[in-house]
Amino acid sequence: MQTPVYICEEALLEKNLKLLDYVQQESGAKIILALKGFAMHSTFDIVAKYLKGCTASGLWEARLAREEFCKWDANAEVHTYSPAFKEEDIEKIAGISDHIVFNSPGQFERFYKRVKSINPAIHLSLRVNPEVSSSPVDLYNPCGLYSRLGTTRENFDPSLVEKLDGLNFHALCEQDADALEAVLAGFEEKFGDFIPKMKYINFGGGHHITRSGYDVEKLIKLVKDFKKRYNDIEVYLEPGEAVGWETGYLEATVLDIVHNGMDIAILDTSAEAHMPDTLAMPYKARVRGAGEPGEKPYTYRLGGNTCLAGDIMGDYSFDAPLQIGDRLIFEDQIHYTFVKNTTFNGIKLPSLAIKRKDGRVEIVKEFHYEDYRDRLS
Ligand SMILES: *Cc1c(COP(=O)(O)O)cnc(C)c1O
Repeated sequence: MQTPVYICEEALLEKNLKLLDYVQQESGAKIILALKGFAMHSTFDIVAKYLKGCTASGLWEARLAREEFCKWDANAEVHTYSPAFKEEDIEKIAGISDHIVFNSPGQFERFYKRVKSINPAIHLSLRVNPEVSSSPVDLYNPCGLYSRLGTTRENFDPSLVEKLDGLNFHALCEQDADALEAVLAGFEEKFGDFIPKMKYINFGGGHHITRSGYDVEKLIKLVKDFKKRYNDIEVYLEPGEAVGWETGYLEATVLDIVHNGMDIAILDTSAEAHMPDTLAMPYKARVRGAGEPGEKPYTYRLGGNTCLAGDIMGDYSFDAPLQIGDRLIFEDQIHYTFVKNTTFNGIKLPSLAIKRKDGRVEIVKEFHYEDYRDRLS
């Protein structure tokens, strides 16, 4: 098999989905997939067995949800939110969404009548900003200073309440249930008087439900207690990362080994183009069989095959010297990776593959020169 390639493991994906389904069964919440984090639609036959639909961030994700997810479950729901909807997209979005979530009272007023006239059954919601968040990184903090995401209580227009079916908030990033508890308290403090008028509340994503150590029982209790306080109101969760979390890996090949103060291996992949959060978050991906620098006898810096000096995955140590042609496996590279890939420097996009339960690896997508060329003119 050629590299680079992302390999999603069906058994691991299903394990996550079963846990998410357990949360649905026990808490009464509905869980939908945030396409922003994981949109490998060749797995949607599996995802749709467990989750109730998708959350989309605009026309194209909404189309993907409608065309590629709903074909496996005609009752699946499409929820579409955008920081700002565009005039030319809004009618198409209305036609294919079950829920539409506006970011501001201005956008709501501008579009809601048109949306309703196209799709009278559509549910209307507003994203609010609970102004509570302990998100670990500013880049991923929707409630940070001057955030444009969601409407604060100060800017909330109570006269909208009559027209709204729901409220959304999204304030977490890779966080535990106690962070949700704090956000929920802030949300209720600021918007509690409006909740009884709503049909549903959407608790957003960022719930790290499938990470080992996540307090699943606490999440279930938070949702159940919330539903009890508000007359069994519908609750949605919309995780992306928790669906794709630890469901597979990125496999790459060592192309060369150079020396400049240390040993450096150049791979046929890229931190910048293929593992962007390793530079943006930043974090260091685990490499199968490797240790921290100095932990094992042979330490290397692993670098990408672009001309960006900082295209570095990090320093790792190995039991044996690396050889040209060796395969390396970066763990947990299925969420927020291929959805963000670029063809920077003209390097090949990694193929997408699914490892079936019987061990067979099926390549579901390969990329070619034409994909690079046609995007640029
Ligand atoms: C990104 C996002 C999500 C998904 O977040 P995860 O961290 O991947 O769970 C859900 N809802 C909204 C509005 C988002 O922007």
